[in-house]
Amino acid sequence: MDRLGSAQRVLVIGHASPDGDAIGSVAGLVLILRRRGKAAMGCIADGVPWFYRPLLEKDLIHTPESLGEFRFDTVVTVDSSDLARLGDAQVLLCGEAPDIVLDHHQTNQGFGRLNYCDPHSPATALIVYEIAKALVAIDEELAQILLLGIATDTGFFKYGNTDHRVLEVATELVKRGASLQRIASAVLENKTPNGLKLLARMLEIVTLAADGKVAYGWVSAAMLAETGCTEQEAEGFVGEVRALHGVEVALLFVESPPGEVHVSLRSKSHVDVSEIALALGGGGHPRAAGCLLKVPGIHDAIGTVVPLAIRAVR
Ligand code: 5GP
Ligand code: MN
Repeated sequence: MDRLGSAQRVLVIGHASPDGDAIGSVAGLVLILRRRGKAAMGCIADGVPWFYRPLLEKDLIHTPESLGEFRFDTVVTVDSSDLARLGDAQVLLCGEAPDIVLDHHQTNQGFGRLNYCDPHSPATALIVYEIAKALVAIDEELAQILLLGIATDTGFFKYGNTDHRVLEVATELVKRGASLQRIASAVLENKTPNGLKLLARMLEIVTLAADGKVAYGWVSAAMLAETGCTEQEAEGFVGEVRALHGVEVALLFVESPPGEVHVSLRSKSHVDVSEIALALGGGGHPRAAGCLLKVPGIHDAIGTVVPLAIRAVR
């Protein structure tokens, strides 16, 4: 908090392939800092996916290319457990460590000069909420942005990280004008027809292993091209695989661009999938983790990760 207080011009960076928590945490912190009279700008390598955009003001989050001449004396990263997760936004650091790292992943590598990581926090946006409470009045705009992060990282208040505290904060944000319906509608009800076709193709090839305790599906670069989709449209697919009866570990492999496969790992009750992701150079939480593999083809990634999942459920 003191380090943020002494900063004058702050760049807030979230992870590439952003989710609602990355977007909510970046935008929330930028708003707080601006309201404290500082110059602040958010940056996310891939920009903000179109369906989140109606939920936030235009000028809060840029790509590294659209940042222009913005000069900064302090860099804060949010919701990223390691440097590589920042993607192309890493270049803005010019090889130096970020000044402040704010995160909630138990696999956080402590890559900042100052590191604040609370693995018990259900969302990084909840940490940003605490900062907001200490520094500014939380108005409707800020409440909406923070609720976006909290709602998405708790699976709209149904994952195991949903405790009474998170529900109390959500209630507080709704009292201040945030609309859960707006967030749910933007995030859950903006699927494209092509995205549905891609989902159908993925569901058709879901494969079971370890007596049905492991289930995995994949989206190859060819499947994306054939259905006219980007990898963004596969967001949430892993949840469909986890929903299967009897499954403990669910995996989704997405190949984009060719040569790179992003693996999403989920578990239902006891396997710590963040250990598997960490061993493969990624990270995450016990019940939700991910990693990026550079492999010749998607079946190389499947051949690497599925045996680890099978071993973990035995
Ligand atoms: P998802 O599978 O939805 O992309 O991510 C699940 C969780 O794992 C999120 O908390 C996300 O931040 C984390 N995660 C996903 N991919 C990576 C990755 O490549 N590296 C790291 N460190 N974490 C990841
Ligand atoms: Mn998060």
